Amino acid sequence: MFNEEFHLEQPIRWGMVGGGRGSQIGYIHRCSAQRDHLFQFVAGAFDVDAARGKEFGQNIGIAADRCYPDYKTMFAEEAKREDGIQAVSIATPNFTHYEILKAALEAGLHAVCEKPLCFTAEQAEELLALAKKNNRIVGVTYGYTGAQMIHQARRMIEEGMLGEIRIINMQFAHGYHSAAVEANDQGTKWRVNPKTAGPSYVLGDVGTHALFLAETMVPNLHIEKLLCSRQSFVKSRAPLEDNAIVLIQYDNGAIGNLWASCVNAGSTHQQKIRVVGEKASIEWWDEHPNQIVFAEQGKPVQILDRGQGYLYQDDEAITCDRMGGGHAEGLFEAWANLYRRFATAMDRVNHGEQASDVMNEMWFPNITDGAQGVRFIENCVRSADEGSVWVEYK
Ligand code: NAD
Repeated sequence: MFNEEFHLEQPIRWGMVGGGRGSQIGYIHRCSAQRDHLFQFVAGAFDVDAARGKEFGQNIGIAADRCYPDYKTMFAEEAKREDGIQAVSIATPNFTHYEILKAALEAGLHAVCEKPLCFTAEQAEELLALAKKNNRIVGVTYGYTGAQMIHQARRMIEEGMLGEIRIINMQFAHGYHSAAVEANDQGTKWRVNPKTAGPSYVLGDVGTHALFLAETMVPNLHIEKLLCSRQSFVKSRAPLEDNAIVLIQYDNGAIGNLWASCVNAGSTHQQKIRVVGEKASIEWWDEHPNQIVFAEQGKPVQILDRGQGYLYQDDEAITCDRMGGGHAEGLFEAWANLYRRFATAMDRVNHGEQASDVMNEMWFPNITDGAQGVRFIENCVRSADEGSVWVEYK
């Protein structure tokens, strides 16, 4: 089980860009980073509105002189301090990620960046090269991939319990934006505008979560080609899609399908992954994140529960278990499991290791995975725009 005695010699001094008052994702970043006392939260540029950001920062306990009007000032001022930040989380709308992450890496900071990392594969390559050059860790918050049962599934698949993998069924299809809610909701407004969201809406916003969950469960599959059909059922969202279906051909002969949607009326989330092998299947659903369904052909279906003794005890799966079985764990715990890994990786680099070695040894959603998400979106958009044809995966 999780060992809460685990600590770093010195918690990592940490700040945030974005995630201000009323933001969707700021709070969970803060809760997860501080959960295990591995990060010390000392600074922020929380809001596009400087005054509101300063007031917010002070209200959540940050010293007034370390609540900055913007990220550039924060990076410059913090660099002058002996106790300046060593890492930053970026939780702003998509169009700002590239410039803020680039500036963070240039300032010598480790980073946690929201998905999508940037808009183009070319930008992603540039960020990858910069992180490598400056020997920095970048984590990406594909939140549920920190959940215990995802790692149990990964291990079962790795050990061949499903046999050869044939089909990957991925979906994240909610219904919250079935109507044009963006008219009265700032957090949705930027998501449906290509200038602020990038080349896609739901593929980037929710589709990449499902994609990376599947990649975590089945890491040795590589996309060979794909076909994407995308729609704007709420017409004013065009050219961005509010629904997309992607067919994926993997290089080992397996096939995948991914459904990303915000117009799945009546659905809350429907984030589900089903991996089908020649002998059995595993299914996980975020509305029941403590379970996976393991079904062998011709045998009774088994529902495996988090925190039980019959799960793997000696790997990632069990170190994610924070309180044994019986009680529900969820998104907050999954995120904290990620932040714990981010802190560990950053600390190892601060003690002289190479970020690339640490990333090879430790599992966590990293900059390469973030770049893969950007590539996936780019390939989907290319396929859809060419008339929903099969395209070789670039
Ligand atoms: P939001 O619109 O609710 O909040 C954005 C926040 O960033 C606001 O506080 C805003 O004032 C601030 N901001 C905007 N520009 C800024 C700037 N230049 N400097 C400082 N602050 C700035 O958005 P959200 O829903 O919280 O999404 C933020 C990011 O998180 C997006 O990239 C989104 O894709 C991602 N996200 C990820 C998950 C996940 O599960 N990993 C879930 C939701 C959102």
